[in-house]
Amino acid sequence: MFEKIVIANRGEIALRILRACRELGIKTVAVHSTADRNLKHVKLADESVCIGPPPSGESYLNIPAVVSAAEVTDSQAIHPGYGFLSENADFAERVEQSGFVFIGPRPETIRTMGDKVSAIKTMKAAGVPCVPGSDGPLGDNDDENLKIANDIGFPVIIKASGGGGGRGMRVVHTEAALLSSISLTRAEAQAAFGNSAVYMEKFLQNPRHIEIQVLADQHGNAVHLGERDCSLQRRHQKVVEESPAPGITAEMRTAIGQRCVDACLKVGYRGAGTFEFLYEDGKFYFIEMNTRVQVEHPVTEMVTGFDIVKEQIKIAAGQPLSFRQKDITWRGHAIECRMNAENARTFLPCPGTIHQFHAPGGPGVRVDSHVYNGYVVPPNYDSMIGKLIVHAENRAAACARMANALSEVIIEGIETNIPLHQSIFLDAGFLEGGVNIHYLEKKLGLHKEKK
Ligand code: ADP
Repeated sequence: MFEKIVIANRGEIALRILRACRELGIKTVAVHSTADRNLKHVKLADESVCIGPPPSGESYLNIPAVVSAAEVTDSQAIHPGYGFLSENADFAERVEQSGFVFIGPRPETIRTMGDKVSAIKTMKAAGVPCVPGSDGPLGDNDDENLKIANDIGFPVIIKASGGGGGRGMRVVHTEAALLSSISLTRAEAQAAFGNSAVYMEKFLQNPRHIEIQVLADQHGNAVHLGERDCSLQRRHQKVVEESPAPGITAEMRTAIGQRCVDACLKVGYRGAGTFEFLYEDGKFYFIEMNTRVQVEHPVTEMVTGFDIVKEQIKIAAGQPLSFRQKDITWRGHAIECRMNAENARTFLPCPGTIHQFHAPGGPGVRVDSHVYNGYVVPPNYDSMIGKLIVHAENRAAACARMANALSEVIIEGIETNIPLHQSIFLDAGFLEGGVNIHYLEKKLGLHKEKK
């Protein structure tokens, strides 16, 4: 096992990784920007290294600074968390070339999955169901592109191969709009991602977002930990996540989970990963793979009892998975609410000092958060200040537990989205379960029906 690990992240996930390391008896090094000297995990870490000023480009995304921190502290491995450098193949490569272990997949896997066209091609070849589409990047032949769209059937969606974060996509409803939409998306993709490759997919009208968690070791073992439903989104950002997904039977879970496991074995996947699917009319359609730990991993941990972050570390250290597919069972229901420092109505970020913080508690309540009384939420980063997770014997009990836990949360000094969450847990449609990805925006009056 490693003796010392650099945690190349901030906020709640950095604290989550630190906790896993401590339980495994591993020393920790916190790297942080000048804005983050007072982060909880920085105070708890065995060592800390300031790697730059507040803008992430000069600190958390500064590859030489992060690698040097591992060098000067004589660490053995780097955990990238999520966001920042976690899906940067060049970073993973640099970490390994410098003689450290990257806690994540091999750099070439990250590269393949980071390009959506190559990810879809790989998954299709491995037998994972994908959205009907162009089977590769679109060329410059207009007639050819019109034919592809007509074969798929309108509406279609044009997506940037290098896109991410919900950007670089355009829905096209008519043949007349197709060619200009392709050119526009191409130009935007070039400007935003430095890669003009675009592809076409059938636009699914009312899908749910359901994803499968996998773990694969370096000894040819891979398992799936079931699914999460992350359909409650605003601007393609997840707001509430749960596991299991309402209406997904054990048979369906096994069928899609096994496809993902087979794909992991086929591509030589290493570590934790997530296969993201759109789910409509009883069918799963792969859209992308995330080659890192996800924000919403706790709901899977709560229902399976396995610690995904500890498994990531053990796998990176070369240990075999300590359990097999048959050892995994799903118990009860877990739900997570992302707590953000933002106005509940306008969604504008609301950084500032938290004068009073009181976390809810009781059976089946978990709070993953780095904030404390007097903590200052800096304006430079993501507005998420923590996650409230509940686990109960079934979905109705979990919803009741969440509603109660939300009523116990006290965060004074800044605005948060707790009122939004409270309204969600009073919403009849959500409480019934199985809503689609447009549900929250419709409820908020933000969703425009496309004609
Ligand atoms: P990103 O990497 O930017 O998050 P994704 O490919 O994961 O992009 O897609 C983000 C979101 O865009 C999905 O969760 C879904 O809401 C919408 N979307 C993407 N592809 C389709 C599609 N073929 N049909 C309908 N909606 C889609």
